[in-house]
Amino acid sequence: MILIDGKKVATEIKENIAKETEKIKNQGIIPGLAVILVGQNSASQIYVNSKEKACKQLGFYSEKKVFPDDISEEILLSEIDRLNNDDKVHGILVQLPLPSHISEDNVLLSIKPEKDVDGFHPMNVGKLVTGQDTLYPCTPYGILKLLEYYKIQTDGKHVVVLGRSNIVGKPVGMLLLQKGKFGNATVTYCHSRTQNLKEITRQADILVAAIGKPEFVTQDFIKKEAIVIDVGINRIPDDTREKGYKIVGDVNFEDVKEKVSYITPVPGGVGAMTIAMLMYNVLKAAKTQLS
Ligand code: NDP
Repeated sequence: MILIDGKKVATEIKENIAKETEKIKNQGIIPGLAVILVGQNSASQIYVNSKEKACKQLGFYSEKKVFPDDISEEILLSEIDRLNNDDKVHGILVQLPLPSHISEDNVLLSIKPEKDVDGFHPMNVGKLVTGQDTLYPCTPYGILKLLEYYKIQTDGKHVVVLGRSNIVGKPVGMLLLQKGKFGNATVTYCHSRTQNLKEITRQADILVAAIGKPEFVTQDFIKKEAIVIDVGINRIPDDTREKGYKIVGDVNFEDVKEKVSYITPVPGGVGAMTIAMLMYNVLKAAKTQLS
């Protein structure tokens, strides 16, 4: 079994981004990211801080805007409008989830597609689906980069995606379906209403698990020598740790490890790639906007 080392790949990607950043800085361009956080969600605060830290590491310009829970949608949209028109900012990211009185759809639609470094704007989703180059969602794109790095062929392979969210499940399947070297897969989507789930997942050459259910996938879900990409990030209680919990994936690693050919660990697999791909998108947006 080969462990897919997301930390290593992410570090290499970030090193390349830092080099590219130096080059374009010499041409007067500093890639810039603005992150908007609404409310006090502790997980969101951690994500936003690590994005800010990555910007600093890479020499990007970064702006963090923190708003209280009760901010009106109107004020939030006007802040996005300001950032849409700020030349220092090449990428805008609104940390989800948002409080229930704010429409996520309205917020995502208000971000200029060229600055939508999360790749969630319908324009960018449409481009992805129709096979056009665009800003792709970070976690799915990170999965593609991991497959590419380990030279895992997807051409003609059966990929089963467990989960159909707009953030992970749907876009990862769409990327792997596209014509191209690291596409051309036959893709099957499964979700909570899928019947005979194990019969389908056992046909997968590559199984992508993105359901948010701790250690759900056990060895009876997979065929021998399958490649398993575990996207899940779940906290489960663990009294032996100071924090009182540990992070596990959607796959029961210990149970499947003897059966698979490749697997991403949690942590240190897909999760490590997401911020690297966000930074990649900010650099890409900076280059296109100023070309
Ligand atoms: P969502 O909750 O938005 O979607 C979960 C999907 O899984 C849904 O499509 C749901 O089906 C499906 N599902 C739930 N239970 C089952 C089941 N028993 N059998 C089959 N399908 C099921 O989650 P996300 O896509 O946002 O995230 C998935 C996981 O990935 C989470 O653990 C999350 O923390 C992690 N994640 C990790 C990231 C990273 O950087 N590594 C980034 C984003 C997410 P239905 O549509 O029918 O409800």
